[in-house]
Amino acid sequence: MSLVNGKAGPANGSPRGVAADQLRRHNLATVLEHLHLGGAATRSQLTAFSGLNRSTIADLIGELSDLGLVAEARGTTRSGPGRPSPVAQVVPEGAVVLAVEVSVDSMAVATVGLGGHVFNQIRIARSRGQFHPQTTVNDIAEMARPLLSALPAQYNLVGMGAAIVGIVRRHDGLVHLAPNLGWRELPLGEMLADTLDLNVPVHVANDADLGALGEHRRGGLGQVSHIVYIGAEVGIGCGLIIDGVPLLGSAGYAGEVGHMFVNPDGHECRCGATGCWETEAGEKALLGRVESLSAVSGLEAVDAVVKLAAGGDADTLQAISDTGHWLGVGISNIVNLFNPEVIVLGGLYHRLFEYLEHSVNEGASRALHASRKMVQIKESVVGQNATLVGASELALAELIDDPANAAN
Ligand SMILES: [Zn+2]
Repeated sequence: MSLVNGKAGPANGSPRGVAADQLRRHNLATVLEHLHLGGAATRSQLTAFSGLNRSTIADLIGELSDLGLVAEARGTTRSGPGRPSPVAQVVPEGAVVLAVEVSVDSMAVATVGLGGHVFNQIRIARSRGQFHPQTTVNDIAEMARPLLSALPAQYNLVGMGAAIVGIVRRHDGLVHLAPNLGWRELPLGEMLADTLDLNVPVHVANDADLGALGEHRRGGLGQVSHIVYIGAEVGIGCGLIIDGVPLLGSAGYAGEVGHMFVNPDGHECRCGATGCWETEAGEKALLGRVESLSAVSGLEAVDAVVKLAAGGDADTLQAISDTGHWLGVGISNIVNLFNPEVIVLGGLYHRLFEYLEHSVNEGASRALHASRKMVQIKESVVGQNATLVGASELALAELIDDPANAAN
């Protein structure tokens, strides 16, 4: 977002007034986003960052302060002559969202405020097969209630964001297909709004798309414009940020890479095809390669694999390495297709990163040299909560994009 100098002032309906109002709202958004992502800043730092003059910054901070979104404290450090510059910072309870993650093995709910401040968070394990839609929504409501009650008295709830392991239509939160939950054409956004009855906008999105958003906003990748997030639980999910903007497809269905063809001699996939990426690099493929785990599945089995790997079990390390190889083969296709700067491995791959990093890089060496040499394959920084963090950022975005409008 770029800034243009302009004095704050009320719109008066004339073309000049409308333009001045748009400029003021744009600048408000830019300053708030800077404080939300970058933390506290002095007026001097905001002036230097934005190129705006000191009095414009003072007006903007004053307005954000009147909206209850930013507070200013007297500065204690002195970088030059004169009085210390006051320090502006977001007020977390000035804009709070409810973030939700529905995965196969677990479900999480968090209350998150401006600045990414997590007031509270609950994650519960789920049994495979316990995915009845209304029961799931009721469980979310049950988990959310105590978290909302524990918020500071003056909190301002502005939205709800939900990350779902499935293909989601963004504009109304319809889950078109979530094969691992057994959901199809489910109006989840509507169900969450009706059951929780919070009277705030509800945003539902694919979990890997939100993993990418979480890493971009909170994983130290703010300056990186081309990011691919790859996560796995049962299936493989992929979230893309290209040119700094999420690449969602016309309805939000883009990035379904789990069924990308990688192995002509591979196994039959649940989709009916053979040699899909997730049959070689997904959780089931990994667990199938560790013979001693044949009796267990899901989170329990993944925990056991992590434990065996940490103990140096040779068969387990080989199974992880084989899985990493196929993960890398698929990544080489993604590198050729999107020419990303960073590929972030989340979910299952985050947990196993130290054991599969080498084989992933080996598998990814199939990519065209020019693209391969410029991409960094790294583990998730945000970690297990990347999609939950992404859900909170999605729900806060409307307010941050236009604080004056959204906060009124
Ligand atoms: Zn498939």
